[in-house]
Amino acid sequence: MAPNELQHAWQALPDDVGKLDRLEEQTRAWLAQAPRSLRFPAELDARFDSQGRPQRLVRLQRALGAVLVIFVLLGAVDLFLLPDILETAWLIRYAIVTPLVLVCLLWMPRAHWERLRESLVAGLILVMAATQVLFAILSDAAPVAQFDLLLILAMLIGNLVAQLRYRIAFGFTAGMLLLYLAQEAAHYEGRPVEQCLALGGMLVACIISLTVRRNLELERRIAFANGLLGGITQRRLASANENLSAQASSDPLTGLANRRELDERLMRLHRNAIRQQQSLSLLFIDVDYFKRFNDTYGHQAGDDCLRWLGGIFRDSLRRPMDMVARYGGEEFAVLLPDTPPDAARKLAEQLRNAVYVARLPHESSPHQRVTISIGVAGSVPNAGALSATLVQAADQALYLAKEEGRNCVVMVS
Ligand code: GH3
Ligand code: MG
Ligand code: MG
Repeated sequence: MAPNELQHAWQALPDDVGKLDRLEEQTRAWLAQAPRSLRFPAELDARFDSQGRPQRLVRLQRALGAVLVIFVLLGAVDLFLLPDILETAWLIRYAIVTPLVLVCLLWMPRAHWERLRESLVAGLILVMAATQVLFAILSDAAPVAQFDLLLILAMLIGNLVAQLRYRIAFGFTAGMLLLYLAQEAAHYEGRPVEQCLALGGMLVACIISLTVRRNLELERRIAFANGLLGGITQRRLASANENLSAQASSDPLTGLANRRELDERLMRLHRNAIRQQQSLSLLFIDVDYFKRFNDTYGHQAGDDCLRWLGGIFRDSLRRPMDMVARYGGEEFAVLLPDTPPDAARKLAEQLRNAVYVARLPHESSPHQRVTISIGVAGSVPNAGALSATLVQAADQALYLAKEEGRNCVVMVS
């Protein structure tokens, strides 16, 4: 199977893990019995069908085209081989069968149902062969031995060039055999040994071409199934990688970005701010008297409180590039690109106020509710400035906010 066909085999794999498992199970089960049956389960069959369509169409067109060319050229030979029925033969050959095959050949790319196309090609080759057999029956002059060879040739083209799927190939070959028998019966010459020998030759040709056809199809299906398994493994690895990187960058308690992710984003945005000469602001948020909160209400309630705060911060940010992260413990950080320090301080004040007015009880705090302190830092960074400087400034501002008695916002420039 060509690499692009293999790729196609797993391109449209489902994201759903359960479906992926089922597909894998079906594929492995089929591979385990592979030499016995070519038949895929329905889902695999649909995938197999949709893969390599264009290549299959070309094969079918080539095969039908080749038989048609031979069929048309045989008209010249009619002059010598079928002189007694020449007019009828040409009429049938050129006025009926050739246009019919030609129209179908041109229409074929539009038939979306793969089996219909293949059955059509098999049927049309049979029609041309049957026409030739009809001539042999009608004419007294027809040299049957040569006509036998034509039947074998048409059968080989159908089975090996068109590469009809095995079931259709089977019916097609049986049809050819019947035509052969009809021809032989019509021209029974009273030489049983020779005719039996010829029939034996035809049978051997049928068996060999069907066997080759079956082996080819089996190989193609095995390659497809293995490609599919490879694709399933790749899809699993890709989604495991996605999960890992999501886990590595997010905080499991709040679902916010974690410190690692914030540090990375900060470096990127800081470089960007230098390049674009834009402001970059950073808020450091710390929950006040949180140790007492835990001591009073328990660690589980503390966790719930952190989750609740994370939700408030996340919901308060409007711009898609703003980012809130859990920096560690009961500390959060908010990164605000393209935001001057004054605007950052306003936002910080809104956050502080949102927590304050929510009145989450905290009986061991002087405010009787959960409050937060926020340090704000921001500037348009100079070339060569370090992002760590911004972090230190925000940290310093937070320290000052704690010094000032908590539940407040302090900005350093
Ligand atoms: P301050 O007002 O000065 O910030 O006082 P504080 O008690 O908030 O600060 P301190 O640094 O003394 O204590 C922080 C507490 O936060 C201690 C720790 O148990 C708690 N904490 C840190 N991480 C978590 C967490 O994930 N869950 C819970 N429930 N508590 C946490
Ligand atoms: Mg702290
Ligand atoms: Mg604290």
